[in-house]
Amino acid sequence: MEKPLYPSKVMRITQGYNEGSHIDSFAIDDAGTDTGKDSIYAPFTGIVKKIYQSDANEVWLESVDKVLYPDGTIDYMTILFAHSDDVSNLFVGKKIMQNEVFYSEGTKGQATGNHCHIECAKGKFTGTGWHKNNAGNWSINNGKKPEECLWIDDTITIIDKNNYNFKKIEPEILEETPPITNENNNPQQETNIELIFTCPKDDLYGIYLKKDEKLYLEK
Ligand SMILES: [Zn+2]
Repeated sequence: MEKPLYPSKVMRITQGYNEGSHIDSFAIDDAGTDTGKDSIYAPFTGIVKKIYQSDANEVWLESVDKVLYPDGTIDYMTILFAHSDDVSNLFVGKKIMQNEVFYSEGTKGQATGNHCHIECAKGKFTGTGWHKNNAGNWSINNGKKPEECLWIDDTITIIDKNNYNFKKIEPEILEETPPITNENNNPQQETNIELIFTCPKDDLYGIYLKKDEKLYLEK
C-alpha cells in the first residue's frame, strides 16, 4: 500500500495553514530550492480529476487506491496543487504514477513568486472539488493537515518544515539478522566478518548468491 510522499524534493514551506491567504484551510505553500521552478512529484498513484485553468491552473489528483496515512488510517486521498504555469501535459482522467513529475511550481493566479500551493484532503474527490471558505478563498473539500497525510523520506531535503512534524518512512526490515556463530555455536569475533562492499549511495542492489552461501552486511 502506498504511503503518500511529500511532493517536493526540497521542502521549504513559505506559508503554513491558517496563515494569511490560508486562513480556514489546511493549505501550504512550498517554494522549493530557490526562486526557480522546482518539479512537483505525484505523492501517490492517482487520477487527474479536475483542472481549473481560469485561475491558478489548479489540479486535483485522487489516489487510485486507498493509501496509508501516517497515523495508520487507510483511505483514499485527494490533493490539490496550484500555480503551475503550464498544465498542457495533463488532462482529466490521466493516470499519474507515484513519484512521477507531473506538475511544477509557478506563478499562475495570485502568486508573487514561484511556488506550489498544496492542499490535502481525506477521501475521494467530492462535488466540485472545493468550496468557498469563511475567509472567502476557495479550499479543497474535506481538507486535512498536510503532516497528517504526507510522509517524508531520505530523498527529501528539509529547509523549512514550518514546525510541522512529518512522519518519516523508515526502510523495512525484511527479516531478523541471524546470529553469527562458528562451528562451536559461539558468537564469532567481529574481525571474521569480511566487508565486501561500501555503498556509495542509498539504492537497491542485486547480488547473485549460490545455494547455502551466506551474505553479511556491516552497517
Ligand atoms: Zn497558497
